[in-house]
Amino acid sequence: MSPDKGLSSRNKGSPDHAGPGAGAAAGIDVLVVGAGPAGVGAAVEAARRGARVLLVEQRPHAGGAIHRAAHDGGPSAVPMPARHKRNWARLLRELDAFSARIRLLTSAVFLGIDGDGVCMIDSRADGPVKLVRARAIIYAIGATERAPHIPGWELPGVVTAGGLQVQMKESGQAPRGRILVAGNGPLPLALGAQLAALGNAPVAVLEAADPYRGLWRRPAAALGLAAGPKQLIEAAGYFRQLRPARVPYVTATTVSTVSRQDDGLRVRTVGPRGDARDYLVDLLVLHAGLACNDRGIPSGDVHGVIVAKAGDCNRVLGADAAPGEGRRVAAMVMARLDGAPSSPADRPLPWGIRAAAVFQASLRRLFASARPPMDMDTILCRCEGVTARDLTVRDLRSAREIRLVGRVGMGLCQGRYCAHAATMAADGDAGALTLADIDGPIPRWPIRPVSVKALADAQEL
Ligand SMILES: Cc1cc2nc3c(=O)[nH]c(=O)nc-3n(C[C@H](O)[C@H](O)[C@H](O)COP(=O)(O)OP(=O)(O)OC[C@H]3O[C@@H](n4cnc5c(N)ncnc54)[C@H](O)[C@@H]3O)c2cc1C
Repeated sequence: MSPDKGLSSRNKGSPDHAGPGAGAAAGIDVLVVGAGPAGVGAAVEAARRGARVLLVEQRPHAGGAIHRAAHDGGPSAVPMPARHKRNWARLLRELDAFSARIRLLTSAVFLGIDGDGVCMIDSRADGPVKLVRARAIIYAIGATERAPHIPGWELPGVVTAGGLQVQMKESGQAPRGRILVAGNGPLPLALGAQLAALGNAPVAVLEAADPYRGLWRRPAAALGLAAGPKQLIEAAGYFRQLRPARVPYVTATTVSTVSRQDDGLRVRTVGPRGDARDYLVDLLVLHAGLACNDRGIPSGDVHGVIVAKAGDCNRVLGADAAPGEGRRVAAMVMARLDGAPSSPADRPLPWGIRAAAVFQASLRRLFASARPPMDMDTILCRCEGVTARDLTVRDLRSAREIRLVGRVGMGLCQGRYCAHAATMAADGDAGALTLADIDGPIPRWPIRPVSVKALADAQEL
């Protein structure tokens, strides 16, 4: 691509559509949102192919979910397999090598694209929203974590596995006291091992699914694991780490309720035969899987800007696949900027990505677990304090009513944690509601909360 194929030739759009971005600076070819492994992979590949790239990251440092830096920007004390460290070190070297073409903007939250095709970035370090035009945007904003909506999940002392991992990666310390980890999928096991490595092993790791049961009846699921030998070795390492501290890994067991007592959190669990057991702990860690962080973002080009998604925000394929996914998507975007009409579906996926997809699909099958029916008094939306009963008592049946009257998706999380729960709790007039129903019109901005002042003072980057 010729680097001078600039933005200045683009229309700014009609004045009646003008958002805060009318008159924004031109000058970059590709805006990459999110500096995790997928975003850095994408930025490096676009720069390698001649693009001027702006890479924006909301955190103070690049790294994403897996390579999150310690609070001082140094490497985290939470142990990590050597291959992940090597992959990240390579990406950082490449980022450095292309620093003339890649501008990394940290502590900068991407807010969306206005009606003129201008990108808005909340630069939290220095106040006003920054406006910039780009010919293409690659969203590499990762995954969000789901929490099981059980009675008491919103209490102080109950955290999600991802939330606790962030705290441990940034502080380098495990929380004190008795910790119970309960969830579904590989992350609770990894977190249990990380707690043990930092000196406070959990009292138990509870897994909702029964991944080993009846394996011979589902050979395809088990065989698919062969596509991820490194990940299997990693999982074996986590079990080894739990063994000296005698941490039980209990399958087919879920948390049914949590309540606060004088001496800690009382956590009631239900085992495979309906057998109840209570744990008294200081901290309960919950996790119900990962989902693409794609709320509010467009599914195709908008306002003349090419839009693509890479990494976990496109498909949750894990850390090993993320850099390659970023590079692949950037190559496609660059081809489109050069006039190629191709769409992602036209090209065969590289082996590494296909293997990751097979492995993840296999994990999903092995760790499939039935969700218990939701208790009506469970808090659906922590931001607005909405329960499942609030929706039914007020007979809110359309997605619009659930949003505007029920307040689901209207709080600070913008539906990232409550919208999925609302689809499970509510049936709309036309039957089951989907996430898209609750989300309403897409794309929309801001995709993250921003102060009116920062928006009103918007200025060119
Ligand atoms: C909670 C959690 C825990 C995980 N734990 C493990 C683990 O223990 N082991 C393992 O192998 N894998 C783990 N994974 C998976 C692994 O982290 C991901 O597969 C990998 O990091 C995906 O890379 P990515 O670049 O797509 O997304 P991420 O690494 O998540 O990077 C996305 C980046 O986008 C930034 N961002 C998001 N929104 C905006 C915005 N609006 N503006 C600016 N920046 C934004 C985020 O701050 C982040 O830095 C975990 C994932 C999650 C979500």
